[in-house]
Amino acid sequence: MSLPRHLTQEEMQTALAELAQAIYTHEQWTEEIYAALVCHLNADERDLGDDAHRNCRFGQWYYTSGMSKLSDRAGFREVEAEHRRMHQYATSLLRASAQGIPISLQDYERFTSALKRTRLEIQSLERELEVSLYNIDPLTGVPGRLEMLQKLREHREFVVRGVHPCTIAMLDVDKFKSVNDVHGHLAGDHVLKAIASYVQAHLRQYDIFFRYGGEEFLLCMPDTDLDTGREICDRLRIELGSLVHEPNGESGFRVTASFGVAGLGADYSVEEGINRADQALLAAKAAGRNRVLVWDPSCEAAHSVQDMVRV
Ligand code: GH3
Ligand code: MG
Ligand code: MG
Repeated sequence: MSLPRHLTQEEMQTALAELAQAIYTHEQWTEEIYAALVCHLNADERDLGDDAHRNCRFGQWYYTSGMSKLSDRAGFREVEAEHRRMHQYATSLLRASAQGIPISLQDYERFTSALKRTRLEIQSLERELEVSLYNIDPLTGVPGRLEMLQKLREHREFVVRGVHPCTIAMLDVDKFKSVNDVHGHLAGDHVLKAIASYVQAHLRQYDIFFRYGGEEFLLCMPDTDLDTGREICDRLRIELGSLVHEPNGESGFRVTASFGVAGLGADYSVEEGINRADQALLAAKAAGRNRVLVWDPSCEAAHSVQDMVRV
């Protein structure tokens, strides 16, 4: 079980474009195979070898660029076995044809069925990538919350199996309403984009930054314990607080953010993990903002006291 690598919007777009090209060239390959079989043409040497699945144009993409970007995706891995099997059948048909051996209907159908299944697997992968791309938040370019629970559950699985810990953090921009009130809503949008692109650019390879909603974001830090998670968030907090925003060409201003940090645990749900990060965030706000707090049971108590005071 390898750690899923997060793809940026740009990498995902590139992967989809390459996949579309690979599908197109694979369709061309299929037509060439039909022509070779029907017209008894000499087959391409690459289609007669045992590793034909690696040498076709789809295979060339799959085992190089595709593998480097998408190998952690279940949909990507599913394609491999079907694609290889389909090539094995195609190779045996081409060898028989070259030797003038009649091809049975059964052998031919075995090939076309494998071809159909390969196409289905490839289409499912394409769909999976499109859904991920569709889930990108249009304002900030980071993933939205649609796939968030699923991703967090995947990471919690590593925690359950004892592979490694996972820490999450809820980030909320401080006094953001006043940014809108003072500088205008477009300036507010500009700030959100700047924050998201700063964090995105400073993440480690496996971290994921989601827009949770409004001016709230969730940072997922796999293979990270609570202490390290807190340090990472504190560094981000300092760096975000020093960014100067100049959206209208007017004199620049700074904004700060508060962070609530919690672990994903084997003995509680992902939802409870998010709830803990949320409670720690509320405690950070109550303690004066522009700070990072790690969840502990007193956050919950502080929260209920606040609720009681509100009532
Ligand atoms: P706190 O420090 O307690 O978090 O205060 P706050 O002002 O940040 O929190 P509050 O919840 O009162 O206000 C959040 C504001 O964020 C209100 C909302 O209009 C604004 N907001 C949410 N989404 C967007 C957006 O996409 N663009 C802009 N410009 N503003 C947004
Ligand atoms: Mg908020
Ligand atoms: Mg806020």
